[in-house]
Amino acid sequence: MAAAKGLADAAVRVTVVDRRNHHLFQPLLYQVATAGLNPADIAHPIRSILASQANARVLLGEIVGIDPETATVSLDDGTDIGFDYLVVAAGTSHSYFGNDGWEAHAPGLKTIEDALEVRRRVLLAFERAERSDDPTERQADLTFVVVGGGPTGVETAGAIAEIAFKTLTREFRVIDPSTATVILLEGTDRVLGAYPESLSKKALRQLRELGVDVRLGVMVTGIDDASVETTAGPIAARTAIWAAGNEASPLAAMLGGGTDRSGRVTVGSDLSVDGNRRIFAIGDIAHVVSNGSEVPGVAQGAIQGGAHVARAIRADLSGQPRRDFHYRNKGELATIGRSSAVGTIGRLRLSGWIAWMAWWSVHIFFLIDFRSRLVVLFSWAWSYVTFQRGARLITGPWRPQRPSGDS
Ligand SMILES: Cc1cc2nc3c(=O)[nH]c(=O)nc-3n(C[C@H](O)[C@H](O)[C@H](O)COP(=O)(O)OP(=O)(O)OC[C@H]3O[C@@H](n4cnc5c(N)ncnc54)[C@H](O)[C@@H]3O)c2cc1C
Repeated sequence: MAAAKGLADAAVRVTVVDRRNHHLFQPLLYQVATAGLNPADIAHPIRSILASQANARVLLGEIVGIDPETATVSLDDGTDIGFDYLVVAAGTSHSYFGNDGWEAHAPGLKTIEDALEVRRRVLLAFERAERSDDPTERQADLTFVVVGGGPTGVETAGAIAEIAFKTLTREFRVIDPSTATVILLEGTDRVLGAYPESLSKKALRQLRELGVDVRLGVMVTGIDDASVETTAGPIAARTAIWAAGNEASPLAAMLGGGTDRSGRVTVGSDLSVDGNRRIFAIGDIAHVVSNGSEVPGVAQGAIQGGAHVARAIRADLSGQPRRDFHYRNKGELATIGRSSAVGTIGRLRLSGWIAWMAWWSVHIFFLIDFRSRLVVLFSWAWSYVTFQRGARLITGPWRPQRPSGDS
């Protein structure tokens, strides 16, 4: 979106192809997964965003092939589109490190569909427990395992703890939701490994204060619909959520450049793919080095990359040299739960309530339209005051299935 918008008044024709019709603000996806927000609060039609940009058209479709030699991309319906410049920003998907069978039992969080599936599973677990007569079954229903202690795993575990320990406490008659166990598994010796160590420690303390059972140095070795196997023994749990790994879109391997261990395409200092000045890769799909360090896979890296590529294309059109890309880190913030967050802004290290306010302010500001900002601000303030979560709908198959198939 940043690249397309950056070319708004250039003498070019822009075609935006996406397999979804909406732009998604992923940082607030965990709020949809934990019933705090509705999907439409954080997603906006791409066609509507570009409606007033006369040189842009939008096509709903999946790119299945890219041929750098003939400068064409192929869509899923067999259509080919030729290009003078190609900007690839297809992002990443979950990686289960070769154990793709785990995905059915532990969905990840990347799309609206993922978030609705996580929401369905979390809310159904409480319903199943309410109907159960067996204390062992009930405890497995009320045990939630989140795999991966990065920002997504931390915020998801914190939000599930809030649902169990605050939101639902008075609504069930048989079970006591506050007896739920929320476990966060992390393979290394700290959560939020990309943050300064002092903030990781604060995040760990805040998670534990929220009631999350954080287990460090524990690796998952198997997942099915009744348990999570780990290097520290099995956990009887019916709900697992995967937040442990990403791999680049398969489009990265079609661009003719080199790729790194996560499958991301390596790009030069102008963000073009090695050996082809007409193809750019930006955002999570690209391995970008700026000022001697790797640019993290975060929204500001993707947005700045998009704006840079638009400037590079404009420079080509006016016969000017392209500039190098320099990433500006404006800060990093990770939310943990109610009144808890950690982060850095410049040299400042923030934690607790101030970091949490900063996190919400930044994320509301970056939402794409005014309506979403207003709705999210209201929902957030409402849930802060009332502890309620306004989007507690169970959609899709509702029957509280047992692993054996009985209900
Ligand atoms: C749960 C979660 C929380 C996050 N929290 C934060 C945060 O707090 N702060 C932060 O800065 N960053 C956060 N991020 C990271 C941030 O969202 C990403 O860095 C950013 O979205 C990357 O943008 P992108 O354009 O590279 O990829 P994406 O935003 O993933 O966009 C990729 C687009 O490509 C489309 N696409 C993919 N393949 C194809 C294909 N073959 N054909 C057609 N279209 C295709 C997809 O539909 C999608 O619209 C979070 C990410 C997640 C998943």
